[in-house]
Amino acid sequence: MDIKTLTITQAKKDLKAKKYSSVELTRAYLERIKHVDKQLNAFITVTEDEALHMAEEADKKLTKGNNASLLGIPVAMKDMYLTKGTKTTAASKVLENFIPQYDATSVKKLKEAGVVILGKLNCDAWAHGSSGENSDFGPTKNPFNSDYVPGGSSSGSAVSVAADMTLFATGTDTGGSIRQPASFCNVVGLKPTYGRVSRFGIVAMASSLDSVGHITKTVEDNALVLNITAGQDNNDGTTPDVKVKDYTKNLKTGVKGLKIGVPKEYFIQGINPKIKELTENALKTLEKQGAQLVEISLPHTKYAVAVYYIIMPSEVSSNLARYDGIRYGRDRSTFGSEAKRRIMLGTFALSAGYYDAYYNKAMQVRTLLRKDFEKAFEKVDVMITPVSPTPPFKLEEKTNDPLAMYLSDIFTVTLNLTGNPGLSVPIGFVDGLPAGMQIIGPHFSEDLLYRVGYAYEKENPLYLKKPNL
Ligand code: GLN
Repeated sequence: MDIKTLTITQAKKDLKAKKYSSVELTRAYLERIKHVDKQLNAFITVTEDEALHMAEEADKKLTKGNNASLLGIPVAMKDMYLTKGTKTTAASKVLENFIPQYDATSVKKLKEAGVVILGKLNCDAWAHGSSGENSDFGPTKNPFNSDYVPGGSSSGSAVSVAADMTLFATGTDTGGSIRQPASFCNVVGLKPTYGRVSRFGIVAMASSLDSVGHITKTVEDNALVLNITAGQDNNDGTTPDVKVKDYTKNLKTGVKGLKIGVPKEYFIQGINPKIKELTENALKTLEKQGAQLVEISLPHTKYAVAVYYIIMPSEVSSNLARYDGIRYGRDRSTFGSEAKRRIMLGTFALSAGYYDAYYNKAMQVRTLLRKDFEKAFEKVDVMITPVSPTPPFKLEEKTNDPLAMYLSDIFTVTLNLTGNPGLSVPIGFVDGLPAGMQIIGPHFSEDLLYRVGYAYEKENPLYLKKPNL
């Protein structure tokens, strides 16, 4: 088995054909973690014994011909996902010794589908960040060049998949935290429609923006995982009763006749010229395959970062209030400076006298952003933009400049404000470091995003380009 080129799709076939067992597969990943994670710091907790036990159980079921969709497939969980009996820290010292008593809904569903959990992944503490540097457990490094950041906040998720320490990983995306690290690490990341995947049992960041998704090597793998995690959940009132599609069904239909919108506000001054060029090349590839490119306008785009950085901290300040030293232990606050900054910003934005000027205004502009999207999707099927205006930056380059860090979210936060789904797909390298495009669709159109992503990936299978580790 060559774990560097292995995909979920392939491993499923191999396990069924008994080319290797799930225990052998799991051991290969555990070895790989031991070999490369000292350099990269993607894991906070490795659950070796539990993983081998789960793999043994999977092997027994495989022998009996059990057809569970992800039977014996290794996964690692962002440490924002509650895992029964396994420490869940949100990468913060506040929860350093917290052991949940139940599984998040998506963890439960993945377990039922037969996965083998390898451990819990590093991230920016409380998922606050765009670089992975805000973790209380040390920064995660980019596997393509360890002087650079892997993106964040799902830093460990993107790195563990890119460096072949797992076959797939789970993540959360409140302002870009799945899509941006996926693009910085040459892997595929989906932020589903708000409410498509249950938030129950995920440490809450900003509840009206939080989306639960995952990172894989290929588009097809991503669709396979969403087939399991998507759906209504009685424990999360924001998951609507919308039918879950088979996301692999129309994957290979191609893009002929599809209208792809190119929002002019996303190709602005200040965007790295090489990122712009790679995105335009990707668009040309899709055009050659029969898609039609249409220039469109999303006129309120310029307000998105400002709106996000009012609404998000307002919700953060409310959600973090439960870590007051009473409910989860610890008699003194050990919040890091980023969490403190957000608590203060949010408390200020919500305070009497300022509420109308900030929070209320931001909510009004949020509606305008949503209308921009609704209007655009009357004309086009999907839209394509860069994921990030720049390639991965150097470690510590932006840690002392929160505003510069916040601006790296410029192309991703809008989807969280509007609830639309976005898929990050690799499109090439800038000076040896990866870049991705963002495919955006109407609410609940994940199948369409996968179709476009698959068509591009088939032409340009960048997942085969691996870091030198
Ligand atoms: N980078 C954004 C922030 O710092 C997004 C975080 C996220 O999506 N969890 O808020």
